[in-house]
Parts: sequence; structure tokens; C-alpha cells
Amino acid sequence: AKRQGRGLVVLFEPAMEEDRLARLELEADLNRAFEKDEFQVFYQPQVDLVSGELVGAEALLRWKHPTKGFVSPAVFIPVAEEMGLIHRLGAWVLTTACCEAKRWPSTATIAINVSAVQFATGDLVAAIGEALEASQLPAERLELEITESAFVQDSKGLDEIFERLLGLGISFALDDFGTGYSSLGYLHRFPISKIKIDRSFVSNVPMDGQAMAILRSIRALAEGLDIKTIAEGIETPEQAETLRIMGCQQGQGYLFGKPMDAEAIQSRLRADGSQ
Ligand code: C2E
Ligand code: CA
Ligand code: CA
Ligand code: CA
Repeated sequence: AKRQGRGLVVLFEPAMEEDRLARLELEADLNRAFEKDEFQVFYQPQVDLVSGELVGAEALLRWKHPTKGFVSPAVFIPVAEEMGLIHRLGAWVLTTACCEAKRWPSTATIAINVSAVQFATGDLVAAIGEALEASQLPAERLELEITESAFVQDSKGLDEIFERLLGLGISFALDDFGTGYSSLGYLHRFPISKIKIDRSFVSNVPMDGQAMAILRSIRALAEGLDIKTIAEGIETPEQAETLRIMGCQQGQGYLFGKPMDAEAIQSRLRADGSQ
């Protein structure tokens, strides 16, 4: 074999080449997936922790790859963002989910994830306008789940986007709360009406004293700012009860239902409403 300057480089080269090829293949597959109708929106119930009733659902994107099966959005969303595909894909999720929600009981809300990349470029407002127009869903029933990364950009443009969306009647939930850097200032600056407490704080209650302390301070903060909280990743009745006692209004997680297809969420919402 040829001598190379640094052994380490040689060692890692084959793996990197493999990664690069896998990545190119993923990009090509993603481009094709759109025309081939391989994307689907699933819906996970969100409940009122006090009454136990369903309040709505979160839309979660699914990609059924022809040979690899279901690919996690945690894997392909970042790639779609880098490719710029997220705009088309995000617009499709918005329209699909709003049209679906229009068929639900008239109080049920739909929460849709919006990536920071969608926020950064001006077409988000147009995409939302089109989704609302196509579905005839009242804007009050649409909630956008955003993460702190949406705030890390030119703030003048941001204020305008928030203002326009807020003007339509849409509300905002801050996703993965507690995992980022400086959420507190953002809560004050931007029109956030709900905090979504990250699963990492929910998983270990009530046993983990530190997680409990963090939850209590998030609750106190939310109460002081008049912001609702929803806890994600609730898997046990103990977790649900602990959060309810802390004053957390809503919950989401496998305890109440895994993400399910459009037909399944519709019958869940209908059955719940007629109780
Ligand atoms: P997320 O917004 O934090 O969504 C919650 C994730 O936790 C979902 O994973 C959901 O299936 C999972 N989950 C819900 N309840 C439980 C539970 O009780 N236990 C456990 N272990 N997990 C639970 P999923 O569907 O794989 O989505 C992963 C991430 O992909 C989402 O995290 C979100 O950031 C992103 N994503 C999904 N759909 C979209 C979309 O339409 N647009 C954008 N921009 N991002 C999306
Ligand atoms: Ca979310
Ligand atoms: Ca989340
Ligand atoms: Ca999360």
C-alpha cells in the first residue's frame, strides 16, 4: 500500500467515503420520495391532563423508504434542510395536516413542527396562508411548534413574520424547552403561548430530584409569564400525575397514544368527543 503522511487519515478515509456515498444516496432518495408519494403525516394525541380529554394532535412526518422501511425524521429532516427541500416538504405537511384537522371535531387543534430554516426564509407566511386557504381550517386551531434555533437570526425579519402569523390567529409553542441555551429572553420577546417541556425532563420523574427541580422552575416561569405548558414523552401514569400536580395543563406521549395515521386519529378524536 502507498505510504501516506498521517496514519489517522488513512484509517478514517474509507469510513468517510462510505458516509459521503450514503449521504448522496439519501439526498437522491429524498428528491424522488416526493414524486413517489412516500411521505405520510402521522398524528399523536395531545391531552388535557386534568380532564383527560383529547385537545388535538401533533403532526409528525413519516417517510416510508421503498427498501429501508421507515426512516426517522430526526435523520432526514436535517438533510432536507440542507438541501433546501424542507420548503416544499414543509409546505406539503402544512397543507396535508390542516386539511386533515378540518375533518376533526371543531375544537381540536393541530400542532405542526416548523423548522428554523423554514422560518429564516420569507415563504413560510405564504405557505401557511395557502394551507389555511386550501383546508378552510380556522387559523385559531393551528399551532406552530418552533425551537429556539428559529430565533438565531436577523430579528427584524423575525418580528415581522411573528406579527403576520399572529395577525392570522395562529399560536406558537416553544418545542424541546430546556434543552437549548437562553430560552428565557425569547419567551419575553416573542409571542409564545405554550412551552413544550422536553422529554428528557419528563422521563425520570418523580424519582429524579434534579429533573423535579427543573420542572418546578419551568412551571413557575410559565405561570409568571402566563404561558401554558405541555409535557412531551409521558409514558407512565406516574409521570402524568406528577406533571398534573405541578400544574402542567397538557400532556403528550405513548401513555396517551403513539403517532398514528389519519384514520386512527380521527376515530380517537370522535370517540373522545362523544363520551
Ligand atoms: P419532536 O417535535 O420533539 O417530536 C417528538 C418525538 O418524540 C416524535 O419523534 C415522537 O414520535 C416521539 N415521542 C412521542 N411520545 C413519545 C414517548 O412517550 N416516548 C418516546 N420515547 N418518544 C415519544 P419522531 O416522530 O421520530 O420525530 C422526531 C423529530 O423530527 C421531531 O421531534 C421533530 O423535531 C422532527 N419532525 C417530525 N415531523 C416534522 C415535520 O413535519 N417538520 C419538521 N420541521 N420537523 C419534524
Ligand atoms: Ca414537536
Ligand atoms: Ca419536542
Ligand atoms: Ca424532543
